[in-house]
Amino acid sequence: MQQRLAILGSTGSIGKQTLEVCRQFPDRFTVEVLTAGQRAEELIHQALEFNPNMVVIGDESKYDTVSEALKNTDVKVFCGSKSIADAATVESVDTVVLALVGIAGLEPAYAALKAGKKLALANKEVLVVAGELISKTAIENRAAIIPIDSEHSAIMQCLQGESSASIEKIILTASGGPFRGFNKDQLQHVTLQQALAHPVWSMGNKITIDSATMMNKGFEVIEARWLFNIPAEKIDVVVHPQSIIHSMVQFVDGSVKAQMSRPDMRLPILYALTWPERVPAPFQTNGIKDIFSLTFEKADTETFRHLSLAFEAIKTGGGAPCVLNASNEIAVDLFLHNKISFLDMQQMSEAALSKIAAGAIGSIEEYIALDAETRIFCQTLNH
Ligand code: NAD
Ligand code: MG
Repeated sequence: MQQRLAILGSTGSIGKQTLEVCRQFPDRFTVEVLTAGQRAEELIHQALEFNPNMVVIGDESKYDTVSEALKNTDVKVFCGSKSIADAATVESVDTVVLALVGIAGLEPAYAALKAGKKLALANKEVLVVAGELISKTAIENRAAIIPIDSEHSAIMQCLQGESSASIEKIILTASGGPFRGFNKDQLQHVTLQQALAHPVWSMGNKITIDSATMMNKGFEVIEARWLFNIPAEKIDVVVHPQSIIHSMVQFVDGSVKAQMSRPDMRLPILYALTWPERVPAPFQTNGIKDIFSLTFEKADTETFRHLSLAFEAIKTGGGAPCVLNASNEIAVDLFLHNKISFLDMQQMSEAALSKIAAGAIGSIEEYIALDAETRIFCQTLNH
């Protein structure tokens, strides 16, 4: 039977690579739902190729364009963010691929899990903001969350056949980004253009900046904490510039398992969709044959404060990771618009974490309110 997919964020980096996987495996996957934020033309193009049941364009002002272009097809067209969350619950969908960015994915993720859908998760910020609630919702509704993030896919692959009691620690690998080895003085003068030039991966702008600051790795610590139900003290980060080992698990007997491949997101996407099966893929035909050296370095958490902030936020618990995420979304957006400097980004998150009271939180509405409060705080800080 074909697996029926809803791809939320289909015009982004992960979304397009998911469609590439669908193209390679037409017998396995069929596309039921596609959603995009702004890029109407690309969404129309994708709809004409994959003929989904429905599409949603987030930007309501582009509804007419999409609807007009698809008027001679059977594709139903909707708009707005509420429709994106609704699209995650459509009955004919088996698996929701969540490839939105930031807190925009929270309500769709929650809706998908409540509807009992398998969630193939790229949008890590959902677990950063509301990991406890999202994990609980998945368990209550017997819905699986399968990671697309390459590190977490690696960990999941290492854990096949293992019990969680035998985990000593999780070792997340980090490429180190474009500023690996830089000190604070050097970071003071880096430009947006330099920050956007990632040495290994080609990704959306937001995660590319998060990789340059190491916020991405900090978020991945929080993501791993919830996905694998493991305390943050048992999660280490090591810099591995070649990005061949995607992460490792050390077991109680001292044995360490690693998952390796060339860096290519289509692999963890395919694994998330076919797990527990492994299928022959056309992407990695050379394996790691001509890779001769794998090196490791200690992560510099003094210079890249974002990484420490993530550990601090998870230790504080409650709403602290939500505050960290919201302040980071604002900071990255300001940096992308050349409004603040590279190091201002960590200062903004430090200020938000120290000033905003973030106690225990129980509902989606409370997370959204805390997110909004943090955004206002950060915007005021910038004026
Ligand atoms: P991207 O910016 O390339 O794509 C984002 C997609 O989401 C686009 O289709 C966009 O239209 C849509 N979108 C964004 N904001 C929206 C909103 N408010 N409402 C409706 N639609 C919206 O991002 P990406 O690089 O594909 O990353 C997606 C997620 O996957 C992120 O959370 C990122 O951290 C994670 N991730 C990405 C990679 C990668 O290689 N790109 C690797 C690991 C994890
Ligand atoms: Mg990753």
